[in-house]
This record gives sequence, structure tokens and C-alpha cells, in this order.
Amino acid sequence: MDITINNRTVSLLADETILQVAARMGIDIPNMCYKEGLGHINSCMICMVKNVASGEFVPACSTKAVSGMVVETDTDEIRNMRREGLELLLSEHVGDCEAPCTSVCPAGLNIPQIIRDLQKGLLVGDVAAIKEQVTSYAALCINCDAPCERVCRRGRIDQAVSIRLLVLYFAGIDLSDTGAAVPPLPAHVRRKFNSHFGKLLPGDKDIFLREASQVGRIEAKENTAKGFVAEEAVPESLRCLHCDCRKLEQCKLRDYADEYDAKQVAFKGVERGQFAKCDEHDSVIFEQGKCIKCGICIAITEKCSDAVGLEFSGRGYDLFVGVPFGDMLSDGLKMAAAESVQSCPTGALAWKNG
Ligand code: SF4
Ligand code: SF4
Repeated sequence: MDITINNRTVSLLADETILQVAARMGIDIPNMCYKEGLGHINSCMICMVKNVASGEFVPACSTKAVSGMVVETDTDEIRNMRREGLELLLSEHVGDCEAPCTSVCPAGLNIPQIIRDLQKGLLVGDVAAIKEQVTSYAALCINCDAPCERVCRRGRIDQAVSIRLLVLYFAGIDLSDTGAAVPPLPAHVRRKFNSHFGKLLPGDKDIFLREASQVGRIEAKENTAKGFVAEEAVPESLRCLHCDCRKLEQCKLRDYADEYDAKQVAFKGVERGQFAKCDEHDSVIFEQGKCIKCGICIAITEKCSDAVGLEFSGRGYDLFVGVPFGDMLSDGLKMAAAESVQSCPTGALAWKNG
């Protein structure tokens, strides 16, 4: 009762899949639509491995390991197949990983996250506690010519968010404080795959503005030499469109795109699909364009017996995840909300406040 994976042979336990045996051997097989205890959904096919005896490619997450099997999990042939599968998923992906402001920041500051943290702190009246989360790179903002503001999406609608002053306010750095030391730039800046959906299409603007204040840009009038005061920072922070991904560092699709050098090829010369964001749930954001239709959230709502839950609608390329009968997301995701957000392999389901 042995199986050989990548030239190593181990004994089989009862009822194991190839994925489970490999995990026991410390061999990592990529997967996105598999979650222990939810059954086999078999939609992403990123876990394909080769059964050497038959020459067939099989999904490791749902294929039972059989005695005598010889399996390869990481050859060039398999890696190419995975890259093509990822590129297919990315071809339908509508939504950014990093927001434009973060992509051009010399220190790679996660600006929309800083703005959300700023709002959380201001709302609970404890900015000091969250200031510690900001790296010392915010000191760069003092002498920076703010490329973030030149590419800010809000600027395509009216005026850019006053990012530089908000970051300085959040970090508690005075505009006149020119002596702040800045450490070497972090190595992670622009290391990873980044989805970018480019210019706003008709209809995108209204979707983004639902999450933002409609007022024009607020200038630091009261205390110009020091930057913003709270009465200015709060309303200005509310102008951010949050056009980033709230699961920037927890997205399996992004991680695998990086690992397999997958490219987002579809949007070259082709108009992309409509951007969509459902933000009526108290705490969860759902971005349809980032969904890979893995079905994990649907299985979780069934397991948690949420009264309404989620379901697949449509067919083929038009398949999408939604709430039955066109109900609200807040009806569909109740008991299952936390587990669904945590288990969604992409940024499609994310906590609103990051
Ligand atoms: S709207 Fe907010 S997240 Fe989008 S680019 Fe401007 S500051 Fe960044
Ligand atoms: S929302 Fe997330 S968990 Fe649900 S089907 Fe889409 S990618 Fe999968």
C-alpha cells in the first residue's frame, strides 16, 4: 500500500487523496477551491498533477491515492498547465490588487489601508494606538512630491485625495519636522503580481462613490504649517474610493500568479468587464470581478445553515455567485460571514475595514 510522489515513496493511509498524502510528505500542491471538510468542488484545477502510469493529469484534491501510483507534482509540463489555468482566471479578473496610489509610492505604503485604519482610530477616538502600525516610511512624505496624488482614482472624478497630508497626520509627523530618519526602502515594494483594471468605465464612478463622501477636496486651512487637524482629516479620509484589494497579502490567486509567473493577458486591447462592488453588508465587501467561482462560500453558507445563503446563478461564462432571489448580501451572509471571508481564496469576499 505505497505511493510514490516526486520519487519519494510512502505508505498510504485509508481514504487519502493525493493532496492529503502530499501534504503529509511536506509537498505543497497549489489549490484554491479545496477546503477540508467541504467536499470536492473541482473548479480551479490548479492542483493538477500527473499520474505517470496512465499519463493522465488528475486533480490532486479529489483523486484518491491508489497503491502503486507514481505521481509527479512539479514538472515544467505541470507548471505550464497551472500558469495557463491561472491566466484564464486572471483574464476575467476585474479589480486592482494594489491601488494606484500604493503602486507608485516609493515606499509602497498601503495607502487605502492606512486611511481605513485612520478612520477606525478616529471613530473610536484612539489614533495613538494605531499610529504604531504605520512604518517610519511615512516620514518620506515630508519631502515627497506625492506621485500617489497624481494617479489617485478620485482625481479622475473630481480632485485627488489629499494623501500626503493624511499619511502624515496618521503617522503624527509634523510638516516642519524635516529631521525624521527614513530607513532603506523595503524590499517587498512592487515585488508581487498586480492586477490593474486601468481607466474608469461609465458606471464605475457611481459604484466607487457609494463608499465615499461626495464633497470636494479639503485643504489644511486651520494649521497649514502642521498639516491636517482632526476636523479636516476625518472628512478628507472619507473621500477615498478604496479602489484597492482588502486582501492584498492573503490572496491565493495573487500568490500563485507570482509563483507561476502568470500574466493578466486578457485586457490588452480588449475592453474589460464592468467593475462591481457590493457594499451594503455591515462588515463584508463583495467584489464580483475578483471571484473565481470556486464555490467555497456557497458550501460554507450551506454548512452554517444560513437561511438565505449564496448560490451560483447563470451558466458557462456568465456563471456568478449571488444571493438567491436577488436578496441583499446582508441576508445571504449571516452566520457564514466570517468563515466565508476567511476562506475565500481571493479578495472577492473581504472585511470592509480591512
Ligand atoms: S481613491 Fe483612495 S485607494 Fe484609490 S487611488 Fe485615491 S487614495 Fe488610493
Ligand atoms: S466569493 Fe470567494 S469563496 Fe465565493 S466563489 Fe467567489 S472566490 Fe470562491
